[in-house]
Amino acid sequence: MVTAPDAGRAGPLPVRPLMKPWYRVVHQRDSVTFQYGRSLVVVRGDGVSDLFVRLLPLLDGRRTSEEIDSLFGDAERPSIGIAIRLLNARELLMDGTEVTAKGTENPSIQFLIAALGISVSPDEIASSLAEARLGVLGGSPTADELGTLLAEAGVRVERVEPASDHLPPAGSSLVIACPDPGQPALLGRINEKCLRLGLPWMQILPFDGDTSVIGPLYLPGQTCCYECFRLRRLSNSEFPKSHRLLEATPATFPSAVSLDRTVAGMAALLLLRWFASDHGQLPGWAYTFQLNPTMSLASHRVYRVPRCPKCGPDWPAPAPGSIVSPWDSRGQAGGT
Ligand SMILES: [Zn+2]
Repeated sequence: MVTAPDAGRAGPLPVRPLMKPWYRVVHQRDSVTFQYGRSLVVVRGDGVSDLFVRLLPLLDGRRTSEEIDSLFGDAERPSIGIAIRLLNARELLMDGTEVTAKGTENPSIQFLIAALGISVSPDEIASSLAEARLGVLGGSPTADELGTLLAEAGVRVERVEPASDHLPPAGSSLVIACPDPGQPALLGRINEKCLRLGLPWMQILPFDGDTSVIGPLYLPGQTCCYECFRLRRLSNSEFPKSHRLLEATPATFPSAVSLDRTVAGMAALLLLRWFASDHGQLPGWAYTFQLNPTMSLASHRVYRVPRCPKCGPDWPAPAPGSIVSPWDSRGQAGGT
């Protein structure tokens, strides 16, 4: 016998209940345990395992609750109804009507929903990924790796050579700049152009012997810009004059394919989360990946510099209506 769930936690029942397929299920004599990550749900009661053995295969997203009820006898029907409501109250169900091949053929989408708790449907995420237009710039091998990873997840990626006259590429909704250590001027150039166009962009800085930096994602007029990032870095330096000279000087820092792929993978995860749900921890946040003394990833909030010479009070903000970014209409709060 299954007892009723807490009424207060139960949301509306999905039209066609679909058991989240990533939950591990353990049947014992008088209990069933569901587990994914830190989520653990234990249902106890006489005969509960037998009941769930028959119920779970029916929660395939193709039947309504009424159709499932009709497959059981009068004596079992109340327990079936309670069991479905309990699974729903514990957020173990999705709506099968919102899950088509469009959203399920892409393994990255199921991962985003399962691991990141994104509460939109797989089809909505598939649409968001398909609508994204990404321009990837820069000579770092990370650029190619990132482009490949995002393209495999369903994002349209255009690779643009640093010397191209089309910086940033026409039609981009987001630009990613991945300079190699020999391209110190690239980021300033992209910053000015994207500020002028109102176009979001993100940086991935090459490993400099100490760290690789992923982000921030810059939203013109809403978050810090690259110059803000630069000025804040300089203000933290013990030797700002030397730092200024060094940052403007090309270098040949070595990297490794494994490091390039690691950084690209982390950047791709952050971007997929952003495309899928406007996750707030990308605009105005920088992630530093360090190898020493132990391998680690740290996040840092990067605030706008009030009198930034590029995006401060004298910045000629694009006229209303001239913003080319589709993200501005999505209500994203920035790290200002
Ligand atoms: Zn700025």
